[in-house]
Amino acid sequence: MLDAAFMCRWMTATAAAVDREAARLTDLDSAIGDADHGANLQRGFSAVTTLLDKEAPATPGAVLALAGRQLISTVGGASGPLYGTLLRRTGKSLGDAGEVTREQLAEALGAGVAAVAQLGGAAAGDKTMLDALLPAVEALGESFAAAAEAADAGALATVPLRARKGRASYLGERSVGHQDPGATSSALLIGALVEAAA
Ligand code: ADP
Ligand code: MG
Ligand code: MG
Repeated sequence: MLDAAFMCRWMTATAAAVDREAARLTDLDSAIGDADHGANLQRGFSAVTTLLDKEAPATPGAVLALAGRQLISTVGGASGPLYGTLLRRTGKSLGDAGEVTREQLAEALGAGVAAVAQLGGAAAGDKTMLDALLPAVEALGESFAAAAEAADAGALATVPLRARKGRASYLGERSVGHQDPGATSSALLIGALVEAAA
């Protein structure tokens, strides 16, 4: 079963992965965006872990909802509201249970991803974070490791795509041949689930 401490470990592991990969995220964003994705997420997830240390919410849903609110208020770029919505809606969907199963998390994350799609108006294949998140949700019913692999594969599969949403879409055909920064950071978020479960 997954409790509030599990969700805090998930957020901490995400913050560490974002720190580790910040330069790479920024490089990817410099190719098809404005070179701030690494810094945006470093600022956001470090604020999340600081707040969780201080407030220690009692349920898994409350941890994710608080993390989502913190991302929205600390990250200026497109990714702040999108990741914030993802975690807030996922947390809300978990309700006030003290512990949840991986299957329940998969279902709640599905609701979170649907909220991201609604907010950003993007769909599968538009070369966004959704291209990592959608396959990850599908595979999360199987295992954390399967979800992480699916997210990595989804991020890699954005390389040949032409961006249809966000800043990268301004480049049109010139966005082809580059991996999407948001799909790459989404794969870090999902990969951090494996660490939280270890
Ligand atoms: P900004 O583009 O405002 O500088 P970031 O660089 O932090 O914000 O985030 C860029 C990432 O956000 C993109 O790589 C993409 O994955 C994601 N993104 C942008 N717009 C959308 C959207 N409408 N729907 C889903 N994801 C999006
Ligand atoms: Mg950017
Ligand atoms: Mg920006």
